[in-house]
Amino acid sequence: MPRITHSSPSPPDAAAGEERIVEGVGVAPGIVIGPALSFVGETYRVSEERVDDDEAEAEIRRFEQAVKRGERELNKIASLARDKLGESSAEIFQAQTLILRDAALHADVKCLIRDESYSADFAVQTVMGRIRKRMEASTSEYLRDRAGDLVDVQNRLLRTLQQSKGFSKIETGRIVVAENLTAADLLLFSRRDVLGCAIDFGGPTSHVSIMARALGVPAVVSLHGFSNTVEGNETIILDGFSGRVVVNPTEETIAAYRARREKYQRGLEARQELVPLPAETKDGHQIALRANVELEQEFPLLEKYGAEGIGLFRTEMLLLAKGQPIDEEEQVAIYQEAIRAARPHPTTFRLLDLGGDKLLPMAHREHNPFLGWRGIRILLDKPDLLRPQLRAILRAAVDGPARILLPMVSTLDEVKRVREHLTDAVASLQADGLPHEEDVDLGIMVEVPAVVLLLDRFAPEVDFLSIGSNDLTQFTLAVDRGNDLIADRYHELHPSVLHLIAQASMAGHRHGLSVSLCGEMASNPRVAPLLVGLGLTELSASPAFLLDVKRAVRSCSKAKMAALAAQALEQPDAQSVVTLMNTWLREHVPELAVFFDETA
Ligand code: PEP
Ligand code: MG
Repeated sequence: MPRITHSSPSPPDAAAGEERIVEGVGVAPGIVIGPALSFVGETYRVSEERVDDDEAEAEIRRFEQAVKRGERELNKIASLARDKLGESSAEIFQAQTLILRDAALHADVKCLIRDESYSADFAVQTVMGRIRKRMEASTSEYLRDRAGDLVDVQNRLLRTLQQSKGFSKIETGRIVVAENLTAADLLLFSRRDVLGCAIDFGGPTSHVSIMARALGVPAVVSLHGFSNTVEGNETIILDGFSGRVVVNPTEETIAAYRARREKYQRGLEARQELVPLPAETKDGHQIALRANVELEQEFPLLEKYGAEGIGLFRTEMLLLAKGQPIDEEEQVAIYQEAIRAARPHPTTFRLLDLGGDKLLPMAHREHNPFLGWRGIRILLDKPDLLRPQLRAILRAAVDGPARILLPMVSTLDEVKRVREHLTDAVASLQADGLPHEEDVDLGIMVEVPAVVLLLDRFAPEVDFLSIGSNDLTQFTLAVDRGNDLIADRYHELHPSVLHLIAQASMAGHRHGLSVSLCGEMASNPRVAPLLVGLGLTELSASPAFLLDVKRAVRSCSKAKMAALAAQALEQPDAQSVVTLMNTWLREHVPELAVFFDETA
């Protein structure tokens, strides 16, 4: 249950306690200074809370709304379970719906709110706790087994109740400190003008980190238990470049960080000179630099940073932001906006990549979500999600070039089935008499090693390829991309990953397909020469990093980059590749070797 505690802002000169420095991983650039807001997600305990007498009826309405929302969620889960697992699995959720509707439960909760002035949350916890104890102590085995369902229902209600009041009460201008955050949580915080976020878990390719970059919210992750050590009344400096967090900074420290921030701002302004220049190596090879976008608010950044279109539109983030599926008309409007911002260059719409760490509230729990029901697997099982999205893209494509990109493909059959859906979508638009494009390129994310190994068989079925190095790395090295315990083992520069990238790039070009790389490594200017050297001709990066990537592309000849790549492929491990790359950068592009000194 999200529990939110505010630490009141303390003026820097009145900072209480000793200055302490904690090191994590900087994943979204920027330096912010401000008061902490501690956020505890998914702990379903609420402390005793009372409300004023005149608030009791509003509390009861909050409870009733939470029940309604719970019912809607359970209905969706039941239908999902029915589709995938059969009627008997759906029964569990129907039983939970009956608990939610139980008249005695409602009467007891309302009574506690009215008579004891308890908040709806605490009343729910108290009443359901009592029922659960009775069930657990029962002589009936059946009733004892059902106690678990009661806990699920209680958690569902408490989560909804806490969300309904949690985010709207947050003061603006805070640095969120949390054990864990989802991309959807961060979106909600951003509406309260959050300054930055510091998270115990996660890595650079976790979707909360990607969302932080999209929103321009400086962020540090992998802070290992930091959230437990922050108390109220503490001022924090968060450095999204170095990954450093300073608690209770001295005035001297604050002054030093303010100076760094100004230097960074000046550097940003200087980079604007690169906008009109081509992304071309010294020996004349053009590289298409496109933008990764997640939200509509990023569309103006295409022009600001000179992006050649959108290489990856993570459309699922729109849905996460809204908390529910978006209808066809709404999708058409957003997609048209994207296409207008990107044209004459293409907009690459990745179909909804749900699952993994991008979960909807009504989602199933899975033990291995990244290896589970994700991306194209969900879409093919849920044509009610796939069909409107295909239709919306075909309709929006009338306004300019569009491409469709399939997420998490692992078998050829998945591509063929989407092609059939695409043919149906065209036919249905014709039947409806709606203007649409018939011929839109269809490509696949190359992010499962099996696909790289069989690319010669995939190539004739697709129009382009886009390498998803974030997932490709986690699947190749068997290292969960969001698990901070093994974050030091997650390495996109591991030679095995580089070999797969080189193989994918060669196979694509052999078949005359364009090959892009849109994982987070494409946003790292220090890595750009290596990627160009591996044969990539398109890179798609977070908009704010595009100019630095362009500078890297322009800094040297492709021939020298290819020589670097050839040596990198020979290395035994990731550390050797990093050492090789740093030596190469110092020799050939010293301005990139000091890239981080410049920004920090
Ligand atoms: C990837 O896996 O590299 C990718 C670009 O997709 P996502 O990060 O959304 O999984
Ligand atoms: Mg991916």
